[in-house]
Amino acid sequence: MIISEIFYGVKCNRCGETCEEEYAFWSDEGSAIDNAMESEWMEDKGKHYCTNCYDFDEETEERTAKPDFPEHVKNLRKFFEKMIIGSERNTTEGDNHFTVSKSLYKRQKLETFEENYIKEMLGDKFISLECKKHERYTQFYCYVMVAR
Ligand SMILES: [Zn+2]
Repeated sequence: MIISEIFYGVKCNRCGETCEEEYAFWSDEGSAIDNAMESEWMEDKGKHYCTNCYDFDEETEERTAKPDFPEHVKNLRKFFEKMIIGSERNTTEGDNHFTVSKSLYKRQKLETFEENYIKEMLGDKFISLECKKHERYTQFYCYVMVAR
């Protein structure tokens, strides 16, 4: 017989990552939040931020949530999530750019029309697009660098 239960997890309000330290899902909200806090997540006005999504001031020990991703970065992330088959998506950020990456399922590069779509969507924010084998895994990943 099949039964269904409700489980609780904590998802980063900024990047969408789920807190998977120890367990990703808990049977009550409090345990899910406690676990995220023990994993150095930050809570602010009912929102939760993973360790990549806030700045930490060493002197004051204060945590400040980073500003939301710009619209064009959100669009690129959405495109990767919905249109490109692959298990993993990641966003890293530098002072002047973001790199959004996505694992590719059973292929080594994007189709030309997909590359063109990305370039057109990003316009003058587009910096570079590269598909290459992951350093450690056998899969290929696509990396798109965009200006802030
Ligand atoms: Zn995050």
